[in-house]
Amino acid sequence: MDPTALQGVPQSVSTGALPGWARVDELVLEAHGRYADDRTGTVADYIPVLAAVDPDLFGLALIEVDGGVHDAGDADHAFSIQSISKLFVYALAIQEHGHERVREIVGVNNTGLAFNSVMALELNGGHPMNPMVNAGAIATTALMPGATAVEQWERLREGLSAFAGRPLSLDGTVYASEAATNDRNRAIGRLLRSYGRLEGDPDEIVDVYTRQCALLVDAHDLAVMGATLADGGVNPVSGAQVVSAEVCRDTLAVAAATGLYERSGEWLFEIGLPAKSGVSGGIVAVSPGKGAVAGFSPRLDHAGNSVRAQLAIAHLSRSLGLNLFASAPAAAQHPGD
Ligand code: GLN
Repeated sequence: MDPTALQGVPQSVSTGALPGWARVDELVLEAHGRYADDRTGTVADYIPVLAAVDPDLFGLALIEVDGGVHDAGDADHAFSIQSISKLFVYALAIQEHGHERVREIVGVNNTGLAFNSVMALELNGGHPMNPMVNAGAIATTALMPGATAVEQWERLREGLSAFAGRPLSLDGTVYASEAATNDRNRAIGRLLRSYGRLEGDPDEIVDVYTRQCALLVDAHDLAVMGATLADGGVNPVSGAQVVSAEVCRDTLAVAAATGLYERSGEWLFEIGLPAKSGVSGGIVAVSPGKGAVAGFSPRLDHAGNSVRAQLAIAHLSRSLGLNLFASAPAAAQHPGD
């Protein structure tokens, strides 16, 4: 579809509100408690240092667009953001270059293949299909402004820090562990360049990408970052306008279609919210106009998504009425109208 065909048509927003703070808090604690003993799944070990994490950690956080905070369990335990960074770097890239330019460089469809697939790129003539998996994410990182990779990295770190509302720092151990073992991502970077899809030195871009994945966050930070996307680009805690409302809309559309890798369809079917997950065990789900929920628990399913974070977010999607596709007949809600 040609997006210019909609020029001048005002963007109205979807509606609805969360119940009061106390009820939300009760449900966050209930969702955390209900899955606290679940031990399903396995911890990622392809980045060697990730295998050393305590698998029993479990944090849950919900931030409301009015700044209301709900933290449960290990919501303040720091972990490397990993793939969840892709969501926010994509938003920064659209903010910088605009909807159409970014759309030309990176597609918005699910690859249906694993997040680190080289085949997804080869099958599509070297055109990255999706910014939420490695090939598209590396191409997106290359869009960060800056004359050098160091400047691009600083801009990226500042941008993600603005989403979190506090300065984010690098986990040097995770960065070193991944940098020593990420031949596959370097191969993807070089393949992108061979297809003319990447400007600059591919190894330097992949290095910036590896750093972005090693930024430290906790579940509370992720919920603040997600709530910024739920709040038309305004961080509900710091009050800063980080990106525009249009950028949030674009970013969340891609997250809905592709944020949980090849399980994205199942996620949307069960939970009904745009979300992004990462191999260190985090997931953030965004409820536009209401807030965001983030879970952290290191045991993953086969696609690399945290098992308990999925369960807890699914619980809240249902109990708080966040599923974007759920409705009830109006006549049954207002009998006699
Ligand atoms: N840094 C990881 C990688 O590039 C991120 C992967 C992930 O979280 N799925 O392989």
